[in-house]
Amino acid sequence: MRPSPVPALPPGLVRPALDGISAYEPGRPIDDVRRQYGIDSVVKLASNEGPHEPMPAAVAAIRASAEGVRMYPDPGAWALRDALEGHTGVPATQILPGAGIDGLIALVCAAILYPGDELAMAWPSFMSWRQQAIARGATVRTAALREDGAYDLEALAAVVGPRTKLVVVVSPNNPTGQAVDAGELTAFLDGLPAHVLPVLDEAYFEYLPAGGHDGAAAVAAGRPLAVVRTFSKAFGLAGLRVGYLMGPEALIRTLGLVRSVFDVSAPAQAAAVASLGEAPSQLSGRVKLITEQRAVVAEGLRDLGLTTLPSAANFLTFPTGSPERAAALNGALLERGVIVRPLGAFGAPESIRVTIGWPHENTRFLQALAEVLQAEQAE
Ligand SMILES: *Cc1c(COP(=O)(O)O)cnc(C)c1O
Repeated sequence: MRPSPVPALPPGLVRPALDGISAYEPGRPIDDVRRQYGIDSVVKLASNEGPHEPMPAAVAAIRASAEGVRMYPDPGAWALRDALEGHTGVPATQILPGAGIDGLIALVCAAILYPGDELAMAWPSFMSWRQQAIARGATVRTAALREDGAYDLEALAAVVGPRTKLVVVVSPNNPTGQAVDAGELTAFLDGLPAHVLPVLDEAYFEYLPAGGHDGAAAVAAGRPLAVVRTFSKAFGLAGLRVGYLMGPEALIRTLGLVRSVFDVSAPAQAAAVASLGEAPSQLSGRVKLITEQRAVVAEGLRDLGLTTLPSAANFLTFPTGSPERAAALNGALLERGVIVRPLGAFGAPESIRVTIGWPHENTRFLQALAEVLQAEQAE
């Protein structure tokens, strides 16, 4: 190969805060693994999308929107906001659709965090919050989770200080899976000082059992709280990039100052609206399959001598004992065509996360893991 020149950037060009961030390591793409290991059928249980395709009405809406993509999308996404008002009970003026929760995290951090400000969160948890805060030059204060992955809200409250601007609760937490109790969450929010904005990341809201927390209801009741949800998980639209934030109208207006006005594409808006229309008939069946299969996979892992953390989401996380063993198991699963997620970047390098898939995919994962563990013992 011809050696290519490596163009250097001018010294001092890039903001030093970015030194504190490592590049996102995506889960291995299916085709990649297929090619490298020469395996035709590869299952990817690595990124928590879940197995379900978009709802039929969403696919139809994407098709129907294709001819119109010559034009920019509605920058206000009003049809989607109105549909979300109907779905959540939060007034449309208190809802901001965005390019997935990830896009909204970037907006919140851009609008609020300045060098020297602090964001408080639990760790291990969803890394985008951490990365975007660091990118803004803010300091991230982290509170440990409990042994079983449950939130320690007292510990989280203890890292809130005079410079804290954002306190993030990810529930169910990714990558550990547990949800915070609704009553405990309310008490925690009540106890926060007035200078912080609490944020609740409900990416897995749809999987919560009845009686779980409901950030939308809290926002509708006037609580000064930002809540983010997504169409990427239970709705099966991860590839389109659409999510939404609910919060005080003043926050929505503020985020409007930093957002790119056309950040949610027309097909994404149309598919999200159509999905909400079909949610009443489709969502519960999807969630039921996931929760049933989650129990099957947890039991399978237990039978293999592994302990899973309790999960209220569409994935399970299991500690393996050490970062080295996690890496070895991950590599051996890849060789058998099963892609899971090692959790180094999430702050849990000794653990592996597996997304719940179709029954045949889950079986394949458990069988491959059984083989891997057997080979491990034979060594
Ligand atoms: C998957 C996930 C997101 C990202 O969702 P997108 O809408 O696809 O950007 C955000 N938060 C948590 C906790 C997640 O697991």
